[in-house]
Amino acid sequence: MLRALIVVDVQKDFCEGGSVPVKGGADRAAAIAELLRRSGGQYAFVVATRDHHIDPGSHFSENPDFQDSFPVHCVVGSEGGEFHPDFVPAVDSGQVDEVVFKGAHSASKSGFEGFTQDGTTLADWLKARDVTDLDIVGIATDHCVKATAMDGVRAGFAVRVLLDYTAGVALDTTQAAVDELRRAGVALSGAPVVVA
Ligand SMILES: [Zn+2]
Repeated sequence: MLRALIVVDVQKDFCEGGSVPVKGGADRAAAIAELLRRSGGQYAFVVATRDHHIDPGSHFSENPDFQDSFPVHCVVGSEGGEFHPDFVPAVDSGQVDEVVFKGAHSASKSGFEGFTQDGTTLADWLKARDVTDLDIVGIATDHCVKATAMDGVRAGFAVRVLLDYTAGVALDTTQAAVDELRRAGVALSGAPVVVA
Protein backbone atom coordinates (compact mmCIF):
# COMPACT_ATOMS: atom_id res chain seq x y z
CA MET A 1 0.00 0.00 0.00
CA LEU A 2 1.36 3.40 -0.99
CA ARG A 3 -0.43 6.52 0.14
CA ALA A 4 -0.24 9.96 -1.48
CA LEU A 5 -1.47 13.29 -0.15
CA ILE A 6 -3.41 15.43 -2.62
CA VAL A 7 -3.51 19.14 -1.73
CA VAL A 8 -6.37 20.79 -3.63
CA ASP A 9 -6.21 24.41 -4.81
CA VAL A 10 -4.49 26.15 -1.89
CA GLN A 11 -4.27 29.34 -3.95
CA LYS A 12 -4.51 33.02 -3.10
CA ASP A 13 -7.80 33.58 -4.93
CA PHE A 14 -9.50 30.93 -2.77
CA CYS A 15 -8.26 32.46 0.49
CA GLU A 16 -9.13 35.67 2.30
CA GLY A 17 -8.32 38.62 0.06
CA GLY A 18 -8.74 36.61 -3.14
CA SER A 19 -11.45 36.93 -5.78
CA VAL A 20 -13.40 33.83 -4.65
CA PRO A 21 -12.41 33.77 -0.99
CA VAL A 22 -13.26 30.86 1.27
CA LYS A 23 -13.18 31.89 4.92
CA GLY A 24 -10.64 29.84 6.80
CA GLY A 25 -8.66 29.18 3.64
CA ALA A 26 -5.51 30.98 4.78
CA ASP A 27 -5.63 29.26 8.14
CA ARG A 28 -5.95 25.84 6.45
CA ALA A 29 -3.02 26.69 4.14
CA ALA A 30 -0.84 27.05 7.22
CA ALA A 31 -2.31 23.91 8.78
CA ILE A 32 -1.62 21.86 5.63
CA ALA A 33 1.99 23.10 5.57
CA GLU A 34 2.29 21.97 9.21
CA LEU A 35 0.73 18.60 8.33
CA LEU A 36 3.43 18.13 5.69
CA ARG A 37 6.22 19.15 8.08
CA ARG A 38 5.26 16.52 10.62
CA SER A 39 3.97 13.79 8.29
CA GLY A 40 7.19 11.88 8.87
CA GLY A 41 7.24 9.94 5.66
CA GLN A 42 3.68 8.62 5.93
CA TYR A 43 3.10 9.89 2.40
CA ALA A 44 4.98 8.27 -0.44
CA PHE A 45 4.12 11.30 -2.59
CA VAL A 46 2.53 14.71 -2.27
CA VAL A 47 0.72 16.28 -5.23
CA ALA A 48 -0.75 19.79 -5.26
CA THR A 49 -3.48 20.82 -7.69
CA ARG A 50 -3.91 24.32 -9.08
CA ASP A 51 -6.89 25.93 -10.73
CA HIS A 52 -5.20 27.37 -13.82
CA HIS A 53 -7.51 29.27 -16.13
CA ILE A 54 -6.83 30.73 -19.57
CA ASP A 55 -10.35 30.94 -21.00
CA PRO A 56 -12.69 28.65 -19.07
CA GLY A 57 -15.86 29.88 -20.81
CA SER A 58 -18.97 30.09 -18.64
CA HIS A 59 -16.96 29.18 -15.53
CA PHE A 60 -16.28 32.94 -15.34
CA SER A 61 -19.23 35.30 -15.06
CA GLU A 62 -19.99 38.89 -14.17
CA ASN A 63 -23.15 37.54 -12.54
CA PRO A 64 -21.84 34.39 -10.91
CA ASP A 65 -24.10 31.84 -9.24
CA PHE A 66 -21.16 30.47 -7.18
CA GLN A 67 -22.15 26.94 -8.17
CA ASP A 68 -21.15 26.72 -11.82
CA SER A 69 -19.99 30.27 -12.48
CA PHE A 70 -17.62 32.42 -10.48
CA PRO A 71 -15.85 35.79 -10.61
CA VAL A 72 -12.60 35.72 -12.55
CA HIS A 73 -10.04 33.73 -10.54
CA CYS A 74 -6.76 31.83 -10.81
CA VAL A 75 -5.91 33.17 -14.25
CA VAL A 76 -2.62 31.83 -15.58
CA GLY A 77 0.17 34.19 -14.60
CA SER A 78 -1.95 36.18 -12.14
CA GLU A 79 -1.04 36.68 -8.52
CA GLY A 80 -4.35 35.16 -7.44
CA GLY A 81 -3.43 31.89 -9.08
CA GLU A 82 -0.31 31.49 -6.96
CA PHE A 83 -0.16 29.14 -4.00
CA HIS A 84 -1.04 30.80 -0.70
CA PRO A 85 2.16 32.18 0.88
CA ASP A 86 1.78 29.92 3.91
CA PHE A 87 1.85 26.88 1.61
CA VAL A 88 4.67 28.12 -0.64
CA PRO A 89 7.48 26.97 1.70
CA ALA A 90 6.17 23.41 1.47
CA VAL A 91 6.46 23.64 -2.31
CA ASP A 92 9.80 25.43 -2.35
CA SER A 93 11.38 23.00 0.11
CA GLY A 94 10.59 20.05 -2.14
CA GLN A 95 7.86 18.51 0.03
CA VAL A 96 5.51 18.65 -2.95
CA ASP A 97 6.52 16.10 -5.58
CA GLU A 98 4.27 17.23 -8.42
CA VAL A 99 1.81 19.96 -9.38
CA VAL A 100 -1.30 19.29 -11.46
CA PHE A 101 -2.85 22.18 -13.42
CA LYS A 102 -6.56 22.12 -14.28
CA GLY A 103 -9.15 24.25 -16.01
CA ALA A 104 -7.24 25.94 -18.83
CA HIS A 105 -10.25 26.04 -21.15
CA SER A 106 -13.12 24.73 -19.04
CA ALA A 107 -14.34 24.51 -15.49
CA SER A 108 -12.42 21.69 -13.82
CA LYS A 109 -13.31 21.13 -10.22
CA SER A 110 -11.54 17.78 -9.99
CA GLY A 111 -7.78 17.42 -9.85
CA PHE A 112 -8.29 14.30 -11.96
CA GLU A 113 -9.21 16.58 -14.89
CA GLY A 114 -5.80 18.23 -14.68
CA PHE A 115 -2.34 17.55 -16.07
CA THR A 116 1.23 17.84 -14.90
CA GLN A 117 3.49 20.21 -16.80
CA ASP A 118 4.50 17.35 -19.11
CA GLY A 119 0.88 16.42 -19.84
CA THR A 120 0.35 13.43 -17.54
CA THR A 121 -3.04 13.04 -15.87
CA LEU A 122 -3.19 12.78 -12.09
CA ALA A 123 -4.47 9.18 -12.23
CA ASP A 124 -1.68 8.10 -14.58
CA TRP A 125 0.95 9.90 -12.50
CA LEU A 126 -0.20 8.14 -9.31
CA LYS A 127 -0.65 4.71 -10.89
CA ALA A 128 2.81 4.86 -12.49
CA ARG A 129 4.13 5.14 -8.93
CA ASP A 130 1.97 2.31 -7.55
CA VAL A 131 -0.06 4.63 -5.35
CA THR A 132 -3.20 2.91 -4.02
CA ASP A 133 -4.46 5.21 -1.28
CA LEU A 134 -5.14 8.94 -1.21
CA ASP A 135 -5.55 11.46 1.56
CA ILE A 136 -7.18 14.63 0.25
CA VAL A 137 -7.08 18.12 1.82
CA GLY A 138 -7.57 21.69 0.58
CA ILE A 139 -10.13 24.17 -0.69
CA ALA A 140 -13.07 24.07 -1.01
CA THR A 141 -14.62 21.06 0.69
CA ASP A 142 -17.94 21.55 -1.11
CA HIS A 143 -16.40 22.11 -4.56
CA CYS A 144 -12.96 20.97 -5.71
CA VAL A 145 -12.12 18.75 -2.72
CA LYS A 146 -15.40 16.87 -3.16
CA ALA A 147 -14.95 16.55 -6.93
CA THR A 148 -11.37 15.33 -6.58
CA ALA A 149 -12.32 12.77 -3.93
CA MET A 150 -15.26 11.45 -5.98
CA ASP A 151 -13.06 11.08 -9.07
CA GLY A 152 -10.40 9.40 -6.94
CA VAL A 153 -12.92 6.71 -6.00
CA ARG A 154 -13.97 6.35 -9.65
CA ALA A 155 -10.31 5.94 -10.63
CA GLY A 156 -9.97 3.04 -8.22
CA PHE A 157 -8.13 4.61 -5.30
CA ALA A 158 -8.98 4.14 -1.62
CA VAL A 159 -9.79 7.72 -0.68
CA ARG A 160 -9.86 9.51 2.65
CA VAL A 161 -10.64 13.20 3.16
CA LEU A 162 -8.99 14.84 6.16
CA LEU A 163 -11.78 17.28 6.98
CA ASP A 164 -9.71 19.14 9.56
CA TYR A 165 -7.49 20.26 6.68
CA THR A 166 -10.24 21.47 4.37
CA ALA A 167 -12.24 24.70 4.25
CA GLY A 168 -15.85 24.79 3.08
CA VAL A 169 -17.75 27.69 1.53
CA ALA A 170 -21.02 27.18 3.42
CA LEU A 171 -22.34 24.88 6.11
CA ASP A 172 -25.23 23.33 4.16
CA THR A 173 -23.27 22.57 0.99
CA THR A 174 -20.31 21.27 3.02
CA GLN A 175 -22.57 18.96 5.00
CA ALA A 176 -24.16 17.75 1.74
CA ALA A 177 -20.68 17.16 0.31
CA VAL A 178 -19.66 15.15 3.38
CA ASP A 179 -22.80 13.02 3.08
CA GLU A 180 -22.17 12.45 -0.63
CA LEU A 181 -18.55 11.46 0.02
CA ARG A 182 -19.56 9.04 2.76
CA ARG A 183 -22.13 7.40 0.48
CA ALA A 184 -19.44 7.01 -2.19
CA GLY A 185 -17.23 5.09 0.22
CA VAL A 186 -14.79 7.88 1.02
CA ALA A 187 -13.31 7.62 4.51
CA LEU A 188 -13.60 10.81 6.52
CA SER A 189 -11.50 11.99 9.41
CA GLY A 190 -11.91 15.03 11.62
CA ALA A 191 -14.71 17.55 11.39
CA PRO A 192 -15.56 19.86 8.50
CA VAL A 193 -14.17 23.38 8.83
CA VAL A 194 -16.67 26.07 7.84
CA VAL A 195 -16.00 29.58 9.10
CA ALA A 196 -19.22 31.59 9.35
ZN1 LIG B 1 -11.96 27.78 -11.43
